[in-house]
Amino acid sequence: MPQFFRKIFLALFLALTLSVYAACQSSDNGETGFDTVEIFAMDTVISIKAYGTNTEKALDAAVQEIYRLEKLFSVTEKDSEIYKLNSLKSITASDEVVNLFTLSQEISAKTDGAFDISVYPLVSLYGFTKGEYRVPEQSELEAALGCVGYEHILIQGDKIEIPSGAGVDLGAIAKGYCGDRVAAVLEQNDVSSAVISIGGNVRLLGQKPDADGYSIAIRDPNDTQEYIGSVTVSDCSVVTSGSYQRYFEENGRIYHHIIDPKTGLCADSGLSSVTVICKDGATADALSTAFFVMGQEQAEQYCRQTDEISAIFVSDNKEISVIGEVDFTPVESSEYTYSTAK
Ligand code: AMP
Ligand code: MG
Repeated sequence: MPQFFRKIFLALFLALTLSVYAACQSSDNGETGFDTVEIFAMDTVISIKAYGTNTEKALDAAVQEIYRLEKLFSVTEKDSEIYKLNSLKSITASDEVVNLFTLSQEISAKTDGAFDISVYPLVSLYGFTKGEYRVPEQSELEAALGCVGYEHILIQGDKIEIPSGAGVDLGAIAKGYCGDRVAAVLEQNDVSSAVISIGGNVRLLGQKPDADGYSIAIRDPNDTQEYIGSVTVSDCSVVTSGSYQRYFEENGRIYHHIIDPKTGLCADSGLSSVTVICKDGATADALSTAFFVMGQEQAEQYCRQTDEISAIFVSDNKEISVIGEVDFTPVESSEYTYSTAK
């Protein structure tokens, strides 16, 4: 969406949201046993459903936490630590940013660079940062590729340094991390069961009251009004990366927002979407992006090394594969074929 329309959309959304939020705030009641709030932040719709009574204070604290993180991680807000790092190339960072960079580096190393926060110069070239889309020239991609490489990000104590020409973007991990933080803030405020949805990426806190689990639907990448099935899960994160989530079309070709850091091109590994299910939201988010880049075979190998990660792959030729210990129910009568492997 062009920046201008984006701003108008945002203003309208906020006006609407404030009224919804006010309504939700007063809807706290013991009969239905939950309370909800919905806001627009981090460039997406975020909703929280907290079970229990008197959850008002907890939801307020959760919303403040989201706005705090949005400010901390933004690549466009001049006060953010990430903006400062991208412009100054060296900063003294908060513990929180150091920890998230450290986790990012670990996941980059484990995925052979398929997940790489230094992909920012490439993401900018395609215009995904500002919503001003364009197809870069090969020469531009090559110049940007010279500045990409997680191994060049130096973390020493509270100092973070990147080479000149380089830049970072936490877009592939920040929403998952935000889910974890919101869950923690709700818990500190005596909420023990909640569903946090950040643009469709879900973090579940605790068990669903009076049920075996929360049923979370997985979107059909070929028809975003529909679902391919659902997982029944508790106390974990369910995060999806897909080419359908953000893209533009030029000369009959689709250019989407997940970039292969080795080629600078939109990842094309034969997958339409990948959903990762594991406890930690930041890990689930980073891995879903990495798996989309790596492709199914390598991603399956990664999953088989641990009991803690399950994944649902949807291939371009409409095959659904479920890896790991997860309770998945496919939609009947769907055009997808379906297989499962522990
Ligand atoms: P996600 O939706 O979590 O898969 O994250 C995609 C977003 O992360 C994109 O909009 C970019 O800002 C950024 N990104 C794109 N490709 C990569 C990559 N290979 N590694 C890390 N971040 C990426
Ligand atoms: Mg991600």
